[in-house]
Amino acid sequence: MAENPLISVIVPCYNEQDNLEPLVKLLSDVLTPLSIPYEIVITDDCSRDDSWKILNQLAAQHPHLCIQRLANNSGQSAALWAGIQAARGRYLATLDADMQNDPRDLPKFLAAMDQADCVCGSRIEKRRQGDNWVRQISSKIANGVRNWITHETVTDSGCCYRMFKRECAANLKFFKGMHRFLPTLFKIDGFTVAEIPVNHQHRLSGLSKYGVWNRVFASAYDLIAVRWMQKRMFRFAVKEKVNFPPEP
Ligand code: UDP
Ligand code: MG
Repeated sequence: MAENPLISVIVPCYNEQDNLEPLVKLLSDVLTPLSIPYEIVITDDCSRDDSWKILNQLAAQHPHLCIQRLANNSGQSAALWAGIQAARGRYLATLDADMQNDPRDLPKFLAAMDQADCVCGSRIEKRRQGDNWVRQISSKIANGVRNWITHETVTDSGCCYRMFKRECAANLKFFKGMHRFLPTLFKIDGFTVAEIPVNHQHRLSGLSKYGVWNRVFASAYDLIAVRWMQKRMFRFAVKEKVNFPPEP
């Protein structure tokens, strides 16, 4: 592919063997009619099932599909970050491999990119369609605590369906659990964030990698770090320079 893509769709994948073919098919069906250059970047987080084998078969059929495999299971944030680093698009979209995020929402994200540097999906209107009540309540609590500590108003920080300009990721602070705080991390760097409602469906196949306890409490530790970053990270712009050699 000579031309740099307008959109890179970035997907972390761990043990998602039965979801990959429908996902790639639907992504292609949605993106091809838009007549824009795109790529799909799937990072296999060292799956123990047949995900990598299936990804190779799909990559042989779809020239837009770029795949990479991590040497060890490194977690969702690491797989996401590896995908972001490998992507070449002007806009980077992130979504999960399990079809809970609906690829048919991608044109809506693209249309909203003139509103903000990062557009986040919010599942709150469709939550009941894709999650059981335990999951809905635990997510609500986790989101509320995150907003309270970080002074945010994000309605659904756990939703990893987002689209952002590639420059948002240039100085991203990456750590385990980073995927839950991306909008806040972008704001720390001075980028703007908007939300749009998105569809939310049941996982097509396989199991969630998280339970109630790690979902609600795993991010508590990270929350302190993110609050610290909000208060202590600095950003600046150089206004004038004298006698420096010209920029390359
Ligand atoms: N994932 C990953 N590595 C992990 C755990 C999860 O790449 O160690 C991927 C997973 O395959 C999926 C996404 O991260 O594409 C979100 O995981 P999951 O659907 O289990 O989370 P949930 O939607 O239940 O929060
Ligand atoms: Mg999921």
